[in-house]
Amino acid sequence: MLWKATVGSMTLVVVPLSNPEPRFLIERSRLAKTAGADAVEVRMDLCLAEGGSPDAIIEAIPHLALPAIVTLRHAREHGSWDGEESDRLELYRKADAAGAAWIDRELEFHAARPWRPERAKLILSNHDFHGPGQDLPGKITAMRSLHADVAKVAVTPRDAADLAAVRSLIDGRGPVAAMAMGEHGLPSRLLAGVWGSALVFARLPGDAGSAPGQPTTEDLLGMCRLRQQSASTRIYGVIGSPIAHSLSPLIHNLAFAHHQLDAVYVPFRVEDAPAFWDACGSWIDGLSITIPHKHALQERMEDLEPLCDLVGAMNTIYRHEGRLTGANTDADAIRRCGERAIGPLKGRRVLVLGAGGAGRAAVFTLKAGGAQVALANRTQARADELAREVGCRSVAWTALADEPFDLLVNMTSVGLKAPQDSPWTHDFPPGSGVFDSVYNPLRTRLICDAEAAGCRTVLGLDMFIDQAVAQFRRWSGLEAPADVMRAACVARLSA
Ligand code: NAP
Repeated sequence: MLWKATVGSMTLVVVPLSNPEPRFLIERSRLAKTAGADAVEVRMDLCLAEGGSPDAIIEAIPHLALPAIVTLRHAREHGSWDGEESDRLELYRKADAAGAAWIDRELEFHAARPWRPERAKLILSNHDFHGPGQDLPGKITAMRSLHADVAKVAVTPRDAADLAAVRSLIDGRGPVAAMAMGEHGLPSRLLAGVWGSALVFARLPGDAGSAPGQPTTEDLLGMCRLRQQSASTRIYGVIGSPIAHSLSPLIHNLAFAHHQLDAVYVPFRVEDAPAFWDACGSWIDGLSITIPHKHALQERMEDLEPLCDLVGAMNTIYRHEGRLTGANTDADAIRRCGERAIGPLKGRRVLVLGAGGAGRAAVFTLKAGGAQVALANRTQARADELAREVGCRSVAWTALADEPFDLLVNMTSVGLKAPQDSPWTHDFPPGSGVFDSVYNPLRTRLICDAEAAGCRTVLGLDMFIDQAVAQFRRWSGLEAPADVMRAACVARLSA
């Protein structure tokens, strides 16, 4: 396989520390080292704001387990330092003499009053906590002309489309640390080794971090294998909003690692999917698509798989023989889950609850598989319209008790994160099967009630793993380790 992992990343992983107590700074630096970080950032402005003593913090620098960036971030760039610049420079001088490896100072202050540490390297930085920044290439050029050892820019994207501008700052002409903050910016951190950022900041699990959107060291070094990332690493991801809850990065990264593929999968929080694709699509090798974007990108595809075209919703983008192709792997997974519950579907009576995106995929694929489909939805008009489109029967939500079925399929969101709720409050016909697409909680109220009634049940997690395995096959041509992925989801959902 051409894209097996080989080259490692030169990106330094930095854990920010802000505890005012020197002994805790030292202890946290040891934990950062154990977690695999290369350096710590002593956010001295935050330590001082919490009542720390400047001298005691500076004295701790040589005792830290990792090289230290010392930062007294000014209030104008969202830090806690609002004292005199001469006092700040005096503290920086002392930190330099005490053995700081880097000093971080804002471009604006450095340009007004240049100063160079004698021993430490100089990071010149610029932060925009409210927007995507202005004239970022000009700022990088200014930092270089002022002899920064590392030029650092951190901005707040309005949407994931702004990631393209951040990525383009890392131009290979000198060390640049470019990062986007917040949930929309998270991929810039998780892809730091692919983009070639000089630094990436990651928090220890359980810590709050020093800026919005910092990943944990586990997510960066474990899940996203930063050390294996390089410019040739392939980039995959999931787009949706919200997206933080998604288990897709966990399982797809496991599958890439299992096959030792040079690829990484990240969560893109996206509000405007076409704008994101137009800005970033050229460097993305494949995508999963979730709510609310399953209808947003079909027009950007060169080909659509027939089932995707039929259902009218797309959850996967991949490149097939060089052509950008859209697929719907949910639909196939739903059919397989139905068969797992009751065997071949041809001629069987299937009652589908829910006429949203997932319900739509279900009725099309179950009907195509030969089932006699009946559809019910809380909002009757939606069920009637979809039933007309697919050519199946629509049943009133209030008349469900009398509806006979061999298989009940829940495609509503009822029960999602609500273990007490079920969309079905009636008896189950003897010998029937029940498939609930909801997988958080793992075992929903519907599944528990159905099992108590003796029904054969299939969990939403089975559908989730099935659709992901089908995506992975399209991206890599390989079989994903479904059991490993399933076990990881069970562990995460049971935590
Ligand atoms: P959607 O388009 O927002 O549709 C939501 C559906 O749930 C609609 O039919 C809605 O009915 C119904 N609903 C919501 N609240 C209800 C309530 N209190 N009582 C009765 N019906 C209610 O979402 P979707 O994309 O179809 O996804 C639906 C669910 O499928 C998700 O929540 C997820 O759990 C599951 N899913 C699972 C997988 C998987 O891989 N396992 C994949 C995709 C989806 P109205 O039309 O009346 O609002």
